[in-house]
This record gives sequence, C-alpha cells and structure tokens, in this order.
Amino acid sequence: MSWEENVRKVVPYVAGEQPKNQDVIKLNTNENPYQPSPKVAAVIKDFDCDVLRRYPDPDVSALADALAKRHGLGREQVFVGVGSDDVLAMSFLTFFNSGKPILFPDITYSFYDVWADLYGIPYENQPLDENFCIKKEDYQKENGGIVIANPNAPTGVASERSVCEEIISANPDSVVIIDEAYVDFGGESCVPLIEKYENLLVVQTFSKSRSMAGMRIGYAMGSKKLIEYLNDVKFSFNSYTMGAIAIAAGVASVEDEAYFAETTAKIIATRERTKRELARLGFVFPDSRTNFIFAAHRTVPAQEIFDALRANRMYVRHWNKPRIANHMRISIGTDEEMDKVLAFLEAYLKGRQ
Ligand code: PMP
Repeated sequence: MSWEENVRKVVPYVAGEQPKNQDVIKLNTNENPYQPSPKVAAVIKDFDCDVLRRYPDPDVSALADALAKRHGLGREQVFVGVGSDDVLAMSFLTFFNSGKPILFPDITYSFYDVWADLYGIPYENQPLDENFCIKKEDYQKENGGIVIANPNAPTGVASERSVCEEIISANPDSVVIIDEAYVDFGGESCVPLIEKYENLLVVQTFSKSRSMAGMRIGYAMGSKKLIEYLNDVKFSFNSYTMGAIAIAAGVASVEDEAYFAETTAKIIATRERTKRELARLGFVFPDSRTNFIFAAHRTVPAQEIFDALRANRMYVRHWNKPRIANHMRISIGTDEEMDKVLAFLEAYLKGRQ
C-alpha cells in the first residue's frame, strides 16, 4: 500500500500554449488583440496599494452591481468568479449532483468532461450534426443537467435563442448552463430568458470581448435561488476568490461600454474579411459568430498547415480528435496579424501545388 493509491487521479485540461517568446503571431487561445479599456489601465495605475492590506470584498459587490446594471438584472442574480472556468467548475460542483448523466455535445469546450471526471459526474456526449449544429431533440431525455457553449467552441457555430429555450423549457428538473464566452461577437444571448426560467444559468467572461484574460474575471447570471446555491458552495471553498485589483479593473471595464462596442465591432469586421479570404484560399468552415474561425482546407491536411504555420511563428490550435482532426481553430487578431497569416497561407498553398 502506497500513499499514491489514495491520490485523486485526473487527466487535466490542456490549455493552448502560452509561448515565452513574444515574437509570435498568437492566434491559438482566442485572446483579444486589443488592449483593455483605457479606463482599466487608469484604475490599475492609480490603485492605492494600502487597500491590499485588507481582504477583498467576499461578495464582490461593486462588480456584481456593475454587471447587474449592465444586464438589467438584480445584484442577487449575479455571481462573479476567477474567470468563467472558475464559475463553470463551481457550477458543475453545485448543480450536477443527481447521479444521472449530464449532457453536452461531442464537440465542445474540452474542459466540460474534465470537470465531470474530477467530480465523478457521469456524462453523455450528444453528437452535433454534420454541420456542427446542435440537435435539440438530443437534450429531451432524462439527465442530471445540461451544459451548452453558445456560440460553441471550437466550432464557432451559434444556436438561436429559441433553440436554447426549447432545451431549457423541456428540462425543468435540471439546471441548464449556457456558456456564453463568445456571445459578444454576434451570438444571441439567453440573458433575456433568465426571468422566465429558474433553472437557467448563463455564464460570461471578461477574457475575450473585454480583453482581460490575464485578469481572470468570469460571471454567472441566473435566478436568485441558483445564485444563492452557487454562493453557498463558493463560501464552502474559498471566500476571497476575487482580488481587489481585479474587482476595480472589472468595474472600470463594464463602465466603458463605448470602448467595448468599438473593439468588438473591429474584431467582427476583421473576422468577416478573414472568412472571405480563407474561402478564396480553399478553406471551408462553419459560419462563425465568435472571435475565431474553425477551418479545414479542401485538399491540404490541417496538421500539415498547422506545422507550417508554427514553424513560421504563427500559432493556431489543432486537436487530433475524432471528427475535427482536419480543422484548425484560428483566433481573430488585428488586421495586420491576419494579413500576415493570410499572405503566408497563400504563398504556402501555392508553393505546394
Ligand atoms: N468557455 C469556453 C467555451 C471557452 O472557450 C473558454 C476559454 N478557454 C472558457 C469558457 C474559459 O474562459 P475564462 O476562464 O478565461 O473565462
């Protein structure tokens, strides 16, 4: 008998590479190419370090208030955490406790099965159709909960709110989590359904549309009851999840709606242009409503293009997994970055003919 037999053994989530070398075009983790709002920079620059002597506000009130106001909700309908990964992990622990399998698509955010395994939650993958769309009938069977990324990752495909609503309304006995990490780039949010469905939890993040992946802020919105249960688990785990600087910076971001609107519009415009260029170069992809494009080339294998890009210090993401091994996920960078990648692809594909 060794101590190792009693260790909780897990297969961890593998995040996209964060190269130490800054000299790369980094389009592999769906980060935002623009800086956070200048108001965020000002708050951090002027931050009074004396505040750090004290523990931060365990209720994260200032940020929960700002987010509630932004989304037209009550403050007791908002829960804030250390990135949406933290919020989702806490939500799985809180709401998926029935012993029945939870449901999520076969191709989706690859952290869902990691959390399910960590907590011992049984799960069943529901295959997306051949166009990477959700089949809503698959979510109308007995289950212990449902989690859907909308728009989905890594496909970029968005489901209409009405499709989500059919799934939510068909499952009054389960909590349905809609992960809206990418919704600000053109998806249809389920936030307007929160007043109607007590079992709906919508999760969003500051990591993509608010350019603050490094600050670690995510949040959940739902009925007062759901948020209370989530807080009970959080306060049984770690009362002080959000640092004082993150709270102040988060408030500054939420208060600068104009900057948020301007940068998301720029990314959407670059994405639409990149779609046209990729199509011209022989790539096919489902229509993306996110800050990335999930592309396969008509003739050249994804692994080969991925390797060529990487050798030229252009990082995208590729998974050697069933159904998606011939796709690459390309995050949307600045126009200049996309131009460099597109020019490389054009020359590479031509040279290969
Ligand atoms: N959900 C989805 C679908 C994602 O792609 C990501 C980013 N990896 C997250 C949640 C987590 O993002 P964060 O923890 O930075 O908020």
